Amino acid sequence: MKISKKDLTAIVKEAYNAVKDENGGKNADYIPYLQNIPSSLFGIALCLPDGRIIEVGDTQYVFGIESVSKVLTAILVINEYGTAEVMNRIGADATGLPFNSIFAILLEKDHPSSPLVNAGAISACSMVKPTGDADKKWQAIDSYFARLCGGKLSVIDELYKSESATNFNNKSIAWLLKNYNRIYDDPDMSLDLYTRQCSYGVTARQLAVCGATIANKGVNPVTGERVFDSAIAPQIVSLIATVGFYEHTGDWLYTSGIPAKTGVGGGIMAIMPGSFGLAAFSPPLDDAGNSYRAQLAIKYITNKLGVNIFGDSVLEVV
Ligand code: GLN
Repeated sequence: MKISKKDLTAIVKEAYNAVKDENGGKNADYIPYLQNIPSSLFGIALCLPDGRIIEVGDTQYVFGIESVSKVLTAILVINEYGTAEVMNRIGADATGLPFNSIFAILLEKDHPSSPLVNAGAISACSMVKPTGDADKKWQAIDSYFARLCGGKLSVIDELYKSESATNFNNKSIAWLLKNYNRIYDDPDMSLDLYTRQCSYGVTARQLAVCGATIANKGVNPVTGERVFDSAIAPQIVSLIATVGFYEHTGDWLYTSGIPAKTGVGGGIMAIMPGSFGLAAFSPPLDDAGNSYRAQLAIKYITNKLGVNIFGDSVLEVV
């Protein structure tokens, strides 16, 4: 399907205007820092495979990446270990349960399920090389995130402290994984890496670039750098498609047609393979921890364009 950049820009702006006054949802309150972010913030950014970016609203506002970070670490470990090894050690199953579910680990004690829920993401952090060296592991995460997003990210110190002081459920997860031999480095260190990566500040624009890198099978469209092997792109998109919205993933895919990953900081990163990366950000969340306005905005755009991962249209922007 062909569309001009002008018409695509008009659709993104239309989505922004249609959604900006929607007032559903509320900021995450279980992480004190997130509770105080202005709820009216809202931005949408779309990045094309050739690096052109369309953006409207608060796309330069730096917010907590939170669970969207799980995708980036999943790519890092899949790229390092290969798809089969990550399947063996973590798994790729949708839990159908909330992101921080302990019940999910008990049900599937042979696997943390997927690198895109808390258990699997903590396990993925434990797999980052080199084993046993927290500083070098952090450097590996830090430089890889920068390559995926097309620029260095910085940790929001206040968020990191806020989350570290209150992450008792995640501590339980890390040690339960240890009980099942599903964590591959020190549990406290792995959890700390996870908490730090969740506390990265990111902009909607940077998430759109990261999404476009995935849509582009590993080549960052802005820097031109190959960040991961193109052969693993389908597995990455499948992880996002099956668990990106946790217990609401089916509803999301059915209504939006596009795989996407959410975070409790209010960001959503969506991927239309071959066509674009699309990010939206707004702090108020629904009951499952997914940004209320960002969901509406992305759905507005995909439905208007008629793109769907199960359809046959690739968007060609002229
Ligand atoms: N850091 C958050 C947590 O572990 C991430 C949750 C999310 O964004 N869904 O609870």
